[in-house]
Amino acid sequence: MIKVAVNGYGTIGKRVADAISKQSDMKLLGVVKTKPDFLAKMALQRGYNLYAASPESLETFKKAKMEAKGTFKELLPEAEVIVDATPSGTGKQNKPLYTENGSKAIFEGGEKPDIAEASFCAQVNYDKAVNKKYIRIVSCNTTGLCRTLSTLDKAYGIESADAVLIRRAADPNDPETGPINGIVLDPPHIPSHHGPDVQTVLPHIKITTMAVTVPTTLMHIHAIHTRVKQPTTKEDVVQTFHKATRIMTIPPEDGITSTNQAAEYARELGRTRSDLYEIPVWEESVGVIDGKDVYYFQGVHQEANVVPENVDAIRAVTGFNSAEESIQRTNESLGILH
Ligand code: NAD
Repeated sequence: MIKVAVNGYGTIGKRVADAISKQSDMKLLGVVKTKPDFLAKMALQRGYNLYAASPESLETFKKAKMEAKGTFKELLPEAEVIVDATPSGTGKQNKPLYTENGSKAIFEGGEKPDIAEASFCAQVNYDKAVNKKYIRIVSCNTTGLCRTLSTLDKAYGIESADAVLIRRAADPNDPETGPINGIVLDPPHIPSHHGPDVQTVLPHIKITTMAVTVPTTLMHIHAIHTRVKQPTTKEDVVQTFHKATRIMTIPPEDGITSTNQAAEYARELGRTRSDLYEIPVWEESVGVIDGKDVYYFQGVHQEANVVPENVDAIRAVTGFNSAEESIQRTNESLGILH
């Protein structure tokens, strides 16, 4: 059993903790929270060991009469792998603690690539993470782009790619972030940072990205164009996506043409928190012009798609060297369709 601790129990951390607790080869030692809020209560209800981020935060748990086992520093020596799901930039501050303790650590996409030995997307470069100490799971947007672009690259070879990212403004539970009435150029310059981030996983792909943020919370949408080397057809591209793991093709007869319907589909699938771990690709949107210009729309459920990646990265850093088997085990445990 791989002993894992989750530091930072927010949008990503709580989902990763649940996913770890579903793995037959992993043991969740505990989760680390800064304050005794409703999420801390829910962690205890789920039977997780709760740890406070610092001695000061432990005092707030005591005052709230909430049981915390101790501080993160007490949990740290027990854990083989730490998943650091703290807010962007905090992982960098925490890293010296992991180094001092000799723990392996998985960081998230809000950290800079140089925090880790490799940036990771399981179906693309699992091997790069095997037996490494520090791995960074790329962001939700980058994970989405890496999954579909690597699939097309393997099938046809990609000459170049460009994508417009239509980003959700905030996660559903965020009461502070906007916009609430505007479309924001985010960033105003082109290219955006997403293309270079894709290249941390797929360095050979020439990609240019641009992004806007819109007032919605459920999902991002990407409008993608790739120029492929080997000619193909719409039907073949749909089949290629259909066969790839963690990509879900949406047929026209399903009647899903919006992110809110995609979220509803996840609810109907019985997914906890309506999580869509897969990247939905709309079959109707797939267009192939002159055999080599491939267009499509894809969705990214930002809260969920990186969750299976974290599970696979834990296996990889602890020496499990079959990407295929890890992906299959993770998929089965989370109910990912294929
Ligand atoms: P979040 O704010 O929802 O959760 C972070 C949690 O960490 C909060 O509960 C916060 O109280 C806690 N925390 C703050 N400082 C801490 C500390 N020093 N020690 C322990 N806990 C601490 O953030 P999130 O959205 O889960 O993001 C976490 C990471 O995942 C970031 O790197 C982010 O960029 C990345 N990510 C986020 C999304 C998304 O859409 N939310 C998607 C993919 C990747």
